[in-house]
Amino acid sequence: MKLALPASTIQIGDEQVPLLFYADDIVCLASSEAELQTMVNIFSCFCSTYGLTLNVSKTMTMVFGGQGTQTRVSITYRGQTLTQVDEFRYLGMTFHWSKGSIHGGGVLSTAAKGAINALISHAKSENSLDIRLLCKLFDNLVSPILLYGCEIWGHCSKLTNTVDSIYNGFLKRIIGARTSLDSNVVLAELKQTPMWLKKLKRQCMYWNRLMKLEDNSLLNKAALEQLTWYNSGARRDKKCWMAATACSAQASLASLLNTECEPPIMQITALEQLTRDHERHTFQNKALQSIRHEGSRDFYASERFIREDNFRSITYAQCFWRSGSPLEIANSVNMRTLIRFRTGAHKLQIVVGAWVGIPRNHRICRCCNMNIVEDEFHMVFECLLYDQTRHEHIDLFTTTGSSQNNLQHAQRQSTTLKPMLARTNYAIIIDNKADEMRRFFNYPNQGLLASFISKCLALRNHTLNQ
Ligand SMILES: [Zn+2]
Repeated sequence: MKLALPASTIQIGDEQVPLLFYADDIVCLASSEAELQTMVNIFSCFCSTYGLTLNVSKTMTMVFGGQGTQTRVSITYRGQTLTQVDEFRYLGMTFHWSKGSIHGGGVLSTAAKGAINALISHAKSENSLDIRLLCKLFDNLVSPILLYGCEIWGHCSKLTNTVDSIYNGFLKRIIGARTSLDSNVVLAELKQTPMWLKKLKRQCMYWNRLMKLEDNSLLNKAALEQLTWYNSGARRDKKCWMAATACSAQASLASLLNTECEPPIMQITALEQLTRDHERHTFQNKALQSIRHEGSRDFYASERFIREDNFRSITYAQCFWRSGSPLEIANSVNMRTLIRFRTGAHKLQIVVGAWVGIPRNHRICRCCNMNIVEDEFHMVFECLLYDQTRHEHIDLFTTTGSSQNNLQHAQRQSTTLKPMLARTNYAIIIDNKADEMRRFFNYPNQGLLASFISKCLALRNHTLNQ
């Protein structure tokens, strides 16, 4: 006896959608309760004929579409009523009766958060917060969860924001920066591609793959139907996957989708331009111009910094982020310390004073008696506490172009403030503080730079805790 498997009345193009098989998973799609019951009955006969058993407890029904509450159906299999659910996980993606696969993206985000917590607590228990290693582990263990199925749900801007904030939050956690820190600064500092860009690339590649299919597969037919729908003007209808994906891609970069050709193709190479534009926009326009505009050190005291919320998250050192490449530093602890310093995740008064509402000009260094605001510049170039440390890292100061032309002045100052330091045979008197900081952070031997910062901070800690 030969039994035909049921096909549904749901069509893609001119083809009836058959039962969907994957390993031991089976999906029956029907357009009415009666039709689904018929399909289940035929399926029951099929199972009897071939000696197969259906696990009824794992078999669910769901009615897609609509608002409010789900339409109830009663489907039975050999007298047992199948449970109707609001969501069901199929091939790793959770589908919701009204939110479809978008809901699945949200479920994966929650799972990714759990994976991050496990990853970080494991790293802490091993006492290893090596940033490079953690980034690699994230790419291998968390990204696959976070971006699973993003080709389908990636057009949802809310989910994109969630995915971005999860990734950026992870990066901030591993460097120990505060959550209010500008995420773009962290991404640049750690040389990481923003998650939305990784996701967009996968969406674009999937798009192109669909447009190039030439076989007789169901997927190809679905793609062609989407294309017809898209070409007919379903641009704003979020239920048209192609229209929604095109919209989200073009919102990122107008020229990303080449609509001149038929079918339209995503220009993957344009994504590289997008990365560059993104960096330029973030740093040249935001951080660097602001400091140029306000003038080196007075940046902190500037009206703009005090007034605008976004500017509060930018610290002095961050403005020089483009210099240097801390990720190449061999010593992972020093590397982390330098990155933290550059992103303002340190305990100098300029930062700590802000937490307790001390006015900027009152955030005075407690490590020396120079009566100067303790910011990154003060620690690196001025503070008398670190004279010996500077001496031990003399190359950082003699080859950066730091002028020694005012040696006498410096020695006089040192003598006045702390006679012992008059022995110091170098001095740093700087006119253009912004340029000097940039040169300092750009010093070719980043390991030496990181060692200097680490030693200064350790000395500071020791001095203040005595
Ligand atoms: Zn000081």
